[in-house]
Formats: sequence, C-alpha cells, structure tokens
Amino acid sequence: MRIRVLGAAAGGGFPQWNCGCANCRKARAGSPDVTPLTQECVAVSTDGDSWFLLNASPEIRSQIEAFAPLHPRAPRHSPIAGIALTNGDLDHTLGLLSLRESHPLTVYATDAVRRGFTEGNALYRTLERFPGQVTWKSFGGFLEAIPAPGKRPVHLEKSGKAEDGDNIGLLIDGKLAYFPAAGAVTPPMIEAINRAECLFFDGTFWSNDELIAAGLGTKRAEDMAHLPVVRSLEALSHFKGRKILIHINNTNPLLDRTSRERRQAEAAGWEIARDGMDFSLE
Ligand SMILES: [Zn+2]
Repeated sequence: MRIRVLGAAAGGGFPQWNCGCANCRKARAGSPDVTPLTQECVAVSTDGDSWFLLNASPEIRSQIEAFAPLHPRAPRHSPIAGIALTNGDLDHTLGLLSLRESHPLTVYATDAVRRGFTEGNALYRTLERFPGQVTWKSFGGFLEAIPAPGKRPVHLEKSGKAEDGDNIGLLIDGKLAYFPAAGAVTPPMIEAINRAECLFFDGTFWSNDELIAAGLGTKRAEDMAHLPVVRSLEALSHFKGRKILIHINNTNPLLDRTSRERRQAEAAGWEIARDGMDFSLE
C-alpha cells in the first residue's frame, strides 16, 4: 500500500489566514524551523493505479495538482476511486464541493456524516446535477470504520444530538490505522490500532489549554473532542508500529522543529506528518 500525505494541518491550515501566533509568524517569515502545511488529506493506493482519499480538504484542488498519480489519464478521467470521510467537519468535507465538474464520485461515510452533509444543504445540489453523480457507500471490506470519541461538526452542533457515527477512524486493508480526530483512546480503537502496521493519530493540540494560553480562544482541546498529544503519547506508548501525528493545528508547538515538545514526541517514537510525506507498507 502506498501512502501519500497531501495535507497534514488541522482546519485553517498552517499558517492560518487570521492567525498571528508564534508558529504562523515564523511560517510567514520563511523560518527554517517550520514548514507550511495544507489541511489534512491523505491518499492511499493498494494497486498503485487507483487511489482513495481520506477526507476532502478545502485545498483538494491544489493537493491533487501537486501529486501526479492523481492526475487524469484521459480527456475526462480521475484515478480517484473513492473518498472516505472520517467526520463531517468542513475541513474534511468542503473539498467535495470543489469536485463538482460533472464527474461521478464515490464517497464512503457513516449515515450520520452523509445526512449532515446532504440534508438541508442547498450547496449539495451542485453534486446532484445528474443521476449518480455521488454514490454514497457504507464502510466495509478494506475500509473498516472504527468508532472514535468525537463530536458533530461545529455548524451542526445545534441541530440534533450527537450520534455514534459522527466521528470514526479507519483501519485500511488491515494495516493502516487512521484516526485524525479522537477525543480519547478507547478499547475498540486499541484493538484496531494493534492490528495495524502504521498509525496516523490526532495531532491537533499539544496541550488541553493551548488556545487559551495563547490568548487565541476559549475552548480547550477536550471541548473540541481532541485528545491532547501530551496524553496520546502515554495512551499509545505500547504501539510498536510506525506512528505519525497528523491534523496538526497551527498553534501546536510540535510544528516548530526547535521546540521541546517536538523533541519529546520524537523521543517517544512519533513522526510529525508533513505535506508530501510518501511511503509504502508491504
Ligand atoms: Zn497560528
């Protein structure tokens, strides 16, 4: 299986348009300590020919253009065989609306995520321009959905109660575990992760009060259903496969190669995802 990180940042990207935090200032100044990142999306291929995207970021057009194996091989063609959504957050779904150029799409999602995106959403009509433009599929086969503690997307928080399918992780082809958002590590998650050779895990925030301490917000990581990395290091220390933090918020000190937090994560055996990271699992 080939794995290509198209984007490694959390929603907002790095730097984020309205953010002047220490990391974002360094990124704009071209500091060698940090590298800009687009919003989270990973491409995987089991045959080297057709590809599945894990989430559809708002930057999907430039992410596809930046990776030649995702380019068309005929006047109208795409090697993207499917897109799997791990939750309904806009940074995971907005990209679908950018793929509206009359091309059939296959999207894997839970019922909760599908309904959240399609119901009462006038913009979704752009993906209903011809019969079969979007085929929604449930998870199964080589894309195994693992429930993960999460929450509804911010724009749907006031419409309806939280459901089981609001947030999931994936076990892909039995060897790649993908949990870009998780509010905790549960026994079913551990069971799936232990079967994998490689794990991508929620790297959104280093600490619970990261935004508050930086004067950038009032919510704690746990209010947004993200387990702080400092606690994930402990909760997942038993995992001996390759482990990579992804969906990294621009405020996270991990993004600075010179930070104490970066050294701590690397010493615990974690890699930090970056755009263009590319590797294979046997
Ligand atoms: Zn920032």
